[in-house]
Amino acid sequence: MKKKPFITLEQARQISAQIPTPFHVYDEAGIRANARELKEAFSWNKGYREYFAVKATPNPYILKILKEEGCGCDCASYTELLMSEAVGITGHDVMFSSNVTPELDMRKAYDMGVYINLDDATYVEFLEQIADRGMPETVCLRYNPGGSFCLGNTIMDMPRDAKYGMTEDQMAGAINRLQQLGVKHFGIHAFLASNTTTNEYYPELASQLFHLAVRLHNATGAHISFINLSGGIGVDYRPEQPRCDIRVIGEGVRTRYEQILTPAGMDDIAIFTELGRYMLAPYGHLVSTVLHQKHIYREYVGLDACAANLMRPAMYGAYHYITVLGKEDAILDHVYDVTGGLCENNDKFAVQRSLPQIDVGDIVVIHDTGAHGFSMGYNYNGKLRSAEVLLKEDGSFQLIRRAETPKDYFATFDCTEFTFGE
Ligand SMILES: *Cc1c(COP(=O)(O)O)cnc(C)c1O
Repeated sequence: MKKKPFITLEQARQISAQIPTPFHVYDEAGIRANARELKEAFSWNKGYREYFAVKATPNPYILKILKEEGCGCDCASYTELLMSEAVGITGHDVMFSSNVTPELDMRKAYDMGVYINLDDATYVEFLEQIADRGMPETVCLRYNPGGSFCLGNTIMDMPRDAKYGMTEDQMAGAINRLQQLGVKHFGIHAFLASNTTTNEYYPELASQLFHLAVRLHNATGAHISFINLSGGIGVDYRPEQPRCDIRVIGEGVRTRYEQILTPAGMDDIAIFTELGRYMLAPYGHLVSTVLHQKHIYREYVGLDACAANLMRPAMYGAYHYITVLGKEDAILDHVYDVTGGLCENNDKFAVQRSLPQIDVGDIVVIHDTGAHGFSMGYNYNGKLRSAEVLLKEDGSFQLIRRAETPKDYFATFDCTEFTFGE
Protein backbone atom coordinates (compact mmCIF):
# COMPACT_ATOMS: atom_id res chain seq x y z
CA MET A 1 0.00 0.00 0.00
CA LYS A 2 1.21 3.48 -0.81
CA LYS A 3 0.67 6.92 0.65
CA LYS A 4 0.17 9.75 -1.80
CA PRO A 5 1.96 13.03 -1.09
CA PHE A 6 -0.01 16.26 -1.30
CA ILE A 7 2.68 17.90 -3.41
CA THR A 8 4.06 16.89 -6.79
CA LEU A 9 7.65 16.89 -7.97
CA GLU A 10 6.89 19.98 -10.02
CA GLN A 11 5.52 21.86 -6.98
CA ALA A 12 8.49 20.77 -4.85
CA ARG A 13 10.89 22.05 -7.53
CA GLN A 14 8.98 25.31 -7.76
CA ILE A 15 9.21 25.84 -4.01
CA SER A 16 12.83 24.73 -3.69
CA ALA A 17 13.88 27.14 -6.43
CA GLN A 18 13.07 29.88 -3.89
CA ILE A 19 13.29 28.08 -0.57
CA PRO A 20 16.08 25.51 -0.52
CA THR A 21 15.40 22.08 0.98
CA PRO A 22 14.99 20.88 3.63
CA PHE A 23 11.69 22.49 4.52
CA HIS A 24 8.39 21.53 6.12
CA VAL A 25 5.35 22.17 3.94
CA TYR A 26 1.73 22.23 5.18
CA ASP A 27 -1.45 21.56 3.22
CA GLU A 28 -3.99 24.29 3.98
CA ALA A 29 -6.87 22.55 2.19
CA GLY A 30 -6.28 19.32 4.12
CA ILE A 31 -6.01 21.14 7.47
CA ARG A 32 -9.29 22.97 6.89
CA ALA A 33 -11.25 19.95 5.63
CA ASN A 34 -10.10 17.85 8.59
CA ALA A 35 -10.95 20.58 11.13
CA ARG A 36 -14.44 20.82 9.65
CA GLU A 37 -14.97 17.06 9.87
CA LEU A 38 -13.96 17.10 13.53
CA LYS A 39 -16.33 19.96 14.30
CA GLU A 40 -19.14 18.16 12.51
CA ALA A 41 -18.49 14.92 14.42
CA PHE A 42 -19.06 16.71 17.74
CA SER A 43 -21.76 19.10 16.54
CA TRP A 44 -24.30 17.19 18.69
CA ASN A 45 -22.70 18.92 21.70
CA LYS A 46 -23.70 22.56 21.97
CA GLY A 47 -20.52 23.86 23.59
CA TYR A 48 -18.06 21.68 21.71
CA ARG A 49 -14.66 23.24 21.02
CA GLU A 50 -11.27 22.05 19.77
CA TYR A 51 -8.30 23.73 21.45
CA PHE A 52 -5.41 22.96 19.11
CA ALA A 53 -2.31 21.81 21.01
CA VAL A 54 0.11 24.55 19.98
CA LYS A 55 3.17 22.46 20.84
CA ALA A 56 2.40 20.18 17.88
CA THR A 57 2.88 22.94 15.27
CA PRO A 58 3.73 26.28 16.84
CA ASN A 59 3.33 28.60 13.88
CA PRO A 60 1.01 31.62 14.00
CA TYR A 61 -0.06 31.13 10.35
CA ILE A 62 -1.26 27.63 11.21
CA LEU A 63 -3.00 28.89 14.37
CA LYS A 64 -4.75 31.54 12.27
CA ILE A 65 -6.10 28.94 9.83
CA LEU A 66 -7.39 26.86 12.73
CA LYS A 67 -8.88 29.95 14.35
CA GLU A 68 -10.81 30.59 11.14
CA GLU A 69 -12.13 27.02 11.45
CA GLY A 70 -13.39 27.78 14.95
CA CYS A 71 -10.56 26.27 16.99
CA GLY A 72 -8.94 27.75 20.07
CA CYS A 73 -5.43 27.05 21.38
CA ASP A 74 -4.09 24.73 24.05
CA CYS A 75 -0.92 26.28 25.48
CA ALA A 76 1.57 24.95 28.01
CA SER A 77 4.15 27.72 28.28
CA TYR A 78 4.67 31.46 28.34
CA THR A 79 5.85 31.62 24.73
CA GLU A 80 2.93 29.51 23.51
CA LEU A 81 0.60 31.95 25.25
CA LEU A 82 2.40 34.87 23.56
CA MET A 83 2.02 33.22 20.15
CA SER A 84 -1.63 32.54 20.70
CA GLU A 85 -2.18 36.13 21.86
CA ALA A 86 -0.39 37.44 18.76
CA VAL A 87 -2.96 35.64 16.60
CA GLY A 88 -5.77 37.21 18.61
CA ILE A 89 -6.60 33.99 20.43
CA THR A 90 -7.08 34.84 24.09
CA GLY A 91 -9.59 34.62 26.96
CA HIS A 92 -11.69 31.48 26.88
CA ASP A 93 -10.37 30.67 23.41
CA VAL A 94 -7.26 29.41 25.20
CA MET A 95 -6.78 26.40 27.44
CA PHE A 96 -3.65 26.53 29.57
CA SER A 97 -2.70 22.90 30.30
CA SER A 98 0.76 23.17 31.80
CA ASN A 99 2.71 21.25 34.41
CA VAL A 100 5.66 22.23 36.60
CA THR A 101 4.41 25.72 35.83
CA PRO A 102 6.68 28.73 36.36
CA GLU A 103 5.12 31.77 38.02
CA LEU A 104 5.63 33.94 34.93
CA ASP A 105 3.61 31.49 32.84
CA MET A 106 0.78 31.25 35.35
CA ARG A 107 0.62 35.01 35.66
CA LYS A 108 0.41 35.43 31.88
CA ALA A 109 -2.38 32.85 31.68
CA TYR A 110 -4.24 34.66 34.45
CA ASP A 111 -3.77 38.06 32.81
CA MET A 112 -5.06 36.73 29.48
CA GLY A 113 -8.15 35.35 31.22
CA VAL A 114 -7.69 31.90 29.73
CA TYR A 115 -9.04 28.62 31.08
CA ILE A 116 -6.41 27.48 33.56
CA ASN A 117 -6.04 23.73 33.90
CA LEU A 118 -4.40 22.91 37.24
CA ASP A 119 -2.04 19.94 37.13
CA ASP A 120 -1.99 19.49 40.89
CA ALA A 121 -3.99 20.29 44.02
CA THR A 122 -1.10 22.40 45.34
CA TYR A 123 -1.67 24.71 42.37
CA VAL A 124 -4.84 26.02 44.02
CA GLU A 125 -2.71 28.03 46.43
CA PHE A 126 -0.33 28.97 43.61
CA LEU A 127 -3.23 30.37 41.58
CA GLU A 128 -4.65 32.10 44.66
CA GLN A 129 -1.35 33.95 45.16
CA ILE A 130 -1.31 35.11 41.55
CA ALA A 131 -5.00 36.01 41.28
CA ASP A 132 -4.67 39.61 42.50
CA ARG A 133 -7.90 40.65 40.78
CA GLY A 134 -9.91 37.73 42.14
CA MET A 135 -10.11 34.08 41.21
CA PRO A 136 -11.26 33.09 37.71
CA GLU A 137 -14.95 32.09 37.50
CA THR A 138 -14.00 28.77 35.94
CA VAL A 139 -11.05 26.52 36.77
CA CYS A 140 -10.11 23.19 35.20
CA LEU A 141 -8.52 20.28 37.07
CA ARG A 142 -6.38 17.56 35.57
CA TYR A 143 -7.19 14.00 36.61
CA ASN A 144 -4.90 11.01 36.99
CA PRO A 145 -6.85 7.80 37.69
CA GLY A 146 -3.69 5.78 38.51
CA GLY A 147 -3.50 2.09 37.60
CA SER A 148 -3.44 1.11 33.96
CA PHE A 149 -5.63 2.44 31.19
CA CYS A 150 -7.10 -0.44 29.21
CA LEU A 151 -9.28 -0.87 26.18
CA GLY A 152 -10.67 -4.39 26.37
CA ASN A 153 -7.65 -6.59 27.13
CA THR A 154 -5.13 -4.11 25.76
CA ILE A 155 -3.13 -1.93 28.14
CA MET A 156 -2.93 1.45 26.41
CA ASP A 157 -0.85 3.28 29.00
CA MET A 158 0.05 3.38 32.70
CA PRO A 159 -1.40 6.52 34.32
CA ARG A 160 0.06 5.46 37.69
CA ASP A 161 3.55 6.05 36.22
CA ALA A 162 2.64 9.42 34.68
CA LYS A 163 3.60 12.70 36.33
CA TYR A 164 0.39 14.47 35.31
CA GLY A 165 -2.80 15.22 37.13
CA MET A 166 -4.19 14.50 40.58
CA THR A 167 -6.20 11.82 42.34
CA GLU A 168 -9.96 11.91 42.69
CA ASP A 169 -9.74 12.78 46.40
CA GLN A 170 -7.35 15.62 45.65
CA MET A 171 -9.74 16.87 42.99
CA ALA A 172 -12.66 16.92 45.41
CA GLY A 173 -10.52 18.75 47.97
CA ALA A 174 -9.35 21.26 45.35
CA ILE A 175 -12.93 21.89 44.23
CA ASN A 176 -14.09 22.51 47.79
CA ARG A 177 -11.27 24.96 48.39
CA LEU A 178 -11.80 26.71 45.02
CA GLN A 179 -15.50 27.08 45.76
CA GLN A 180 -14.63 28.78 49.05
CA LEU A 181 -12.43 31.13 47.02
CA GLY A 182 -15.38 32.00 44.78
CA VAL A 183 -14.80 29.76 41.76
CA LYS A 184 -18.21 28.91 40.25
CA HIS A 185 -17.61 26.47 37.40
CA PHE A 186 -15.25 23.59 36.87
CA GLY A 187 -13.65 21.73 34.02
CA ILE A 188 -12.22 18.21 34.14
CA HIS A 189 -9.29 17.13 31.99
CA ALA A 190 -7.32 13.93 31.41
CA PHE A 191 -4.86 12.70 28.80
CA LEU A 192 -4.41 8.97 29.29
CA ALA A 193 -3.04 7.56 26.02
CA SER A 194 -1.14 8.99 23.09
CA ASN A 195 -1.38 8.38 19.32
CA THR A 196 -4.28 5.94 19.65
CA THR A 197 -5.53 4.51 16.37
CA THR A 198 -8.69 2.90 17.73
CA ASN A 199 -12.09 4.57 17.67
CA GLU A 200 -12.59 3.41 21.27
CA TYR A 201 -10.09 5.66 23.08
CA TYR A 202 -12.15 8.84 23.34
CA PRO A 203 -15.42 7.05 24.19
CA GLU A 204 -13.71 5.04 26.97
CA LEU A 205 -11.93 8.12 28.35
CA ALA A 206 -15.18 10.09 28.12
CA SER A 207 -17.02 7.36 30.00
CA GLN A 208 -14.48 7.50 32.86
CA LEU A 209 -14.55 11.30 33.00
CA PHE A 210 -18.36 11.47 32.82
CA HIS A 211 -18.68 9.08 35.79
CA LEU A 212 -16.02 11.10 37.62
CA ALA A 213 -17.93 14.33 36.91
CA VAL A 214 -21.10 12.85 38.40
CA ARG A 215 -19.24 11.66 41.51
CA LEU A 216 -17.47 15.01 41.97
CA HIS A 217 -20.72 16.89 41.48
CA ASN A 218 -22.42 14.69 44.08
CA ALA A 219 -19.51 15.03 46.53
CA THR A 220 -19.03 18.79 46.25
CA GLY A 221 -22.18 20.22 44.67
CA ALA A 222 -19.92 21.88 42.12
CA HIS A 223 -21.13 22.84 38.67
CA ILE A 224 -19.04 21.03 36.06
CA SER A 225 -19.18 23.13 32.90
CA PHE A 226 -16.83 21.28 30.58
CA ILE A 227 -14.97 18.03 30.13
CA ASN A 228 -11.72 18.20 28.21
CA LEU A 229 -10.82 14.94 26.47
CA SER A 230 -7.42 16.42 25.61
CA GLY A 231 -5.26 14.95 22.82
CA GLY A 232 -4.36 11.41 21.96
CA ILE A 233 -6.24 10.59 18.77
CA GLY A 234 -3.57 9.24 16.46
CA VAL A 235 -2.91 9.00 12.75
CA ASP A 236 -1.98 6.19 10.39
CA TYR A 237 1.76 6.73 10.02
CA ARG A 238 2.05 3.33 8.31
CA PRO A 239 0.21 2.91 5.04
CA GLU A 240 -1.35 -0.40 6.11
CA GLN A 241 -2.65 1.02 9.42
CA PRO A 242 -6.37 1.70 9.80
CA ARG A 243 -7.41 5.35 10.15
CA CYS A 244 -9.52 6.62 13.00
CA ASP A 245 -13.06 7.48 11.97
CA ILE A 246 -13.82 10.76 13.67
CA ARG A 247 -17.57 10.42 13.08
CA VAL A 248 -17.60 7.05 14.87
CA ILE A 249 -15.52 8.58 17.69
CA GLY A 250 -17.90 11.56 18.03
CA GLU A 251 -20.92 9.25 18.10
CA GLY A 252 -19.18 6.99 20.67
CA VAL A 253 -18.68 9.96 22.99
CA ARG A 254 -22.30 11.03 22.40
CA THR A 255 -23.61 7.59 23.42
CA ARG A 256 -21.69 7.72 26.73
CA TYR A 257 -22.83 11.31 27.29
CA GLU A 258 -26.47 10.28 26.90
CA GLN A 259 -25.98 7.19 29.11
CA ILE A 260 -24.13 8.90 31.94
CA LEU A 261 -24.53 12.68 31.99
CA THR A 262 -28.07 13.13 30.68
CA PRO A 263 -29.72 10.92 33.35
CA ALA A 264 -27.70 12.79 36.02
CA GLY A 265 -29.18 16.08 34.80
CA MET A 266 -25.70 17.23 33.74
CA ASP A 267 -26.37 17.63 30.04
CA ASP A 268 -25.20 21.24 29.87
CA ILE A 269 -21.57 20.06 29.94
CA ALA A 270 -19.48 21.16 26.96
CA ILE A 271 -17.00 18.74 25.42
CA PHE A 272 -13.56 20.14 24.68
CA THR A 273 -10.67 18.50 22.84
CA GLU A 274 -6.98 19.45 22.65
CA LEU A 275 -5.89 17.52 19.60
CA GLY A 276 -2.51 18.19 18.06
CA ARG A 277 -1.38 15.21 16.04
CA TYR A 278 -4.81 14.47 14.62
CA MET A 279 -5.21 18.08 13.43
CA LEU A 280 -1.89 18.48 11.68
CA ALA A 281 0.34 15.39 11.30
CA PRO A 282 -1.00 14.15 7.93
CA TYR A 283 -0.99 17.69 6.51
CA GLY A 284 2.75 18.25 6.81
CA HIS A 285 5.65 16.86 4.78
CA LEU A 286 9.35 17.22 5.37
CA VAL A 287 10.81 17.80 1.90
CA SER A 288 14.47 16.96 1.48
CA THR A 289 17.08 16.39 -1.23
CA VAL A 290 19.34 13.35 -1.57
CA LEU A 291 22.93 14.54 -1.04
CA HIS A 292 24.88 11.28 -0.95
CA GLN A 293 24.69 7.57 -1.46
CA LYS A 294 27.06 5.03 -0.01
CA HIS A 295 27.40 1.31 -0.42
CA ILE A 296 29.03 -0.47 2.52
CA TYR A 297 27.42 -3.31 4.49
CA ARG A 298 24.11 -1.66 3.72
CA GLU A 299 22.91 0.76 1.08
CA TYR A 300 22.65 4.30 2.50
CA VAL A 301 20.88 7.36 1.17
CA GLY A 302 21.92 10.61 2.89
CA LEU A 303 19.49 13.55 2.97
CA ASP A 304 19.95 17.26 3.60
CA ALA A 305 17.39 16.87 6.42
CA CYS A 306 18.34 15.20 9.68
CA ALA A 307 16.89 14.29 13.07
CA ALA A 308 17.19 17.97 14.04
CA ASN A 309 14.33 18.60 11.56
CA LEU A 310 12.31 15.56 12.58
CA MET A 311 13.22 13.83 15.81
CA ARG A 312 10.47 11.19 16.01
CA PRO A 313 12.35 8.36 14.23
CA ALA A 314 15.51 8.90 16.30
CA MET A 315 13.63 9.41 19.56
CA TYR A 316 10.87 6.81 19.37
CA GLY A 317 11.94 4.64 16.44
CA ALA A 318 8.82 6.10 14.85
CA TYR A 319 7.84 5.10 11.33
CA HIS A 320 7.36 7.78 8.66
CA TYR A 321 6.40 6.82 5.13
CA ILE A 322 8.76 8.10 2.41
CA THR A 323 7.94 8.96 -1.20
CA VAL A 324 10.59 9.70 -3.82
CA LEU A 325 8.94 12.44 -5.88
CA GLY A 326 8.64 11.63 -9.57
CA LYS A 327 9.04 7.91 -8.77
CA GLU A 328 5.63 7.43 -7.17
CA ASP A 329 4.77 4.58 -9.52
CA ALA A 330 8.18 2.90 -9.64
CA ILE A 331 8.59 -0.57 -8.11
CA LEU A 332 10.05 -0.66 -4.62
CA ASP A 333 12.90 -3.00 -5.55
CA HIS A 334 15.74 -1.42 -3.53
CA VAL A 335 16.37 -1.55 0.21
CA TYR A 336 17.91 1.51 1.88
CA ASP A 337 18.66 3.10 5.20
CA VAL A 338 17.67 6.74 4.74
CA THR A 339 19.80 8.94 6.99
CA GLY A 340 20.52 12.49 8.02
CA GLY A 341 23.97 13.88 8.70
CA LEU A 342 24.08 14.05 12.51
CA CYS A 343 26.99 12.32 14.20
CA GLU A 344 24.53 9.91 15.80
CA ASN A 345 23.78 6.52 14.33
CA ASN A 346 20.10 6.81 15.25
CA ASP A 347 19.77 9.66 12.74
CA LYS A 348 17.85 7.44 10.33
CA PHE A 349 14.48 8.35 8.83
CA ALA A 350 14.07 4.79 7.61
CA VAL A 351 15.88 1.53 8.27
CA GLN A 352 15.97 -1.27 5.68
CA ARG A 353 13.11 0.36 3.78
CA SER A 354 11.94 -0.86 0.37
CA LEU A 355 12.04 2.10 -2.00
CA PRO A 356 12.51 2.72 -5.71
CA GLN A 357 16.04 3.21 -6.99
CA ILE A 358 17.24 6.52 -5.58
CA ASP A 359 19.67 8.92 -7.24
CA VAL A 360 21.61 11.86 -5.81
CA GLY A 361 19.50 14.99 -6.38
CA ASP A 362 16.17 13.19 -5.97
CA ILE A 363 13.64 15.03 -3.83
CA VAL A 364 11.99 12.92 -1.14
CA VAL A 365 8.90 13.58 0.93
CA ILE A 366 8.78 12.29 4.50
CA HIS A 367 5.11 11.99 5.35
CA ASP A 368 3.01 12.89 8.38
CA THR A 369 5.42 15.44 9.81
CA GLY A 370 2.85 18.21 10.37
CA ALA A 371 2.67 17.66 14.14
CA HIS A 372 5.56 17.13 16.56
CA GLY A 373 7.87 17.55 13.53
CA PHE A 374 9.40 20.99 13.15
CA SER A 375 8.38 21.76 16.73
CA MET A 376 10.64 19.11 18.25
CA GLY A 377 13.57 20.39 16.20
CA TYR A 378 16.87 21.35 17.76
CA ASN A 379 20.34 22.56 16.86
CA TYR A 380 22.55 19.58 17.63
CA ASN A 381 25.71 19.45 15.51
CA GLY A 382 25.08 23.08 14.59
CA LYS A 383 22.21 22.04 12.33
CA LEU A 384 19.84 24.91 11.66
CA ARG A 385 16.07 24.82 11.84
CA SER A 386 14.44 24.62 8.44
CA ALA A 387 11.90 26.88 6.76
CA GLU A 388 8.16 26.22 6.96
CA VAL A 389 6.03 26.67 3.87
CA LEU A 390 2.27 26.81 3.47
CA LEU A 391 0.76 25.25 0.36
CA LYS A 392 -2.37 27.35 0.03
CA GLU A 393 -5.78 26.25 -1.14
CA ASP A 394 -5.27 27.93 -4.52
CA GLY A 395 -2.05 25.97 -5.14
CA SER A 396 0.29 28.89 -4.45
CA PHE A 397 2.79 28.70 -1.62
CA GLN A 398 3.86 31.07 1.14
CA LEU A 399 6.94 31.10 3.33
CA ILE A 400 5.54 31.06 6.87
CA ARG A 401 8.88 30.79 8.68
CA ARG A 402 12.29 31.36 7.17
CA ALA A 403 15.13 28.94 7.74
CA GLU A 404 17.62 29.76 10.49
CA THR A 405 20.96 31.20 9.50
CA PRO A 406 24.29 30.82 11.31
CA LYS A 407 23.64 34.31 12.68
CA ASP A 408 20.54 33.00 14.47
CA TYR A 409 22.58 30.11 15.83
CA PHE A 410 25.28 32.39 17.23
CA ALA A 411 22.90 35.11 18.42
CA THR A 412 22.87 34.02 22.06
CA PHE A 413 26.63 34.41 22.50
CA ASP A 414 28.19 37.63 23.65
CA CYS A 415 29.68 38.47 20.30
CA THR A 416 32.05 41.24 21.39
CA GLU A 417 34.71 38.66 22.22
CA PHE A 418 34.23 36.37 19.21
CA THR A 419 33.45 37.01 15.59
CA PHE A 420 31.52 34.27 13.81
CA GLY A 421 32.46 34.18 10.11
CA GLU A 422 30.29 34.19 6.94
C1 LIG B 1 0.63 16.99 23.83
C2 LIG B 1 -0.66 17.37 24.42
C3 LIG B 1 -1.82 17.42 23.63
C4 LIG B 1 -1.84 17.01 22.19
O1 LIG B 1 -1.53 15.67 22.03
P1 LIG B 1 -1.66 14.95 20.61
O2 LIG B 1 -1.15 13.59 20.87
O3 LIG B 1 -0.82 15.73 19.67
O4 LIG B 1 -3.09 14.98 20.24
C5 LIG B 1 -2.98 17.85 24.24
N1 LIG B 1 -3.03 18.20 25.53
C6 LIG B 1 -1.93 18.17 26.32
C7 LIG B 1 -2.05 18.60 27.75
C8 LIG B 1 -0.72 17.74 25.79
O5 LIG B 1 0.35 17.69 26.59
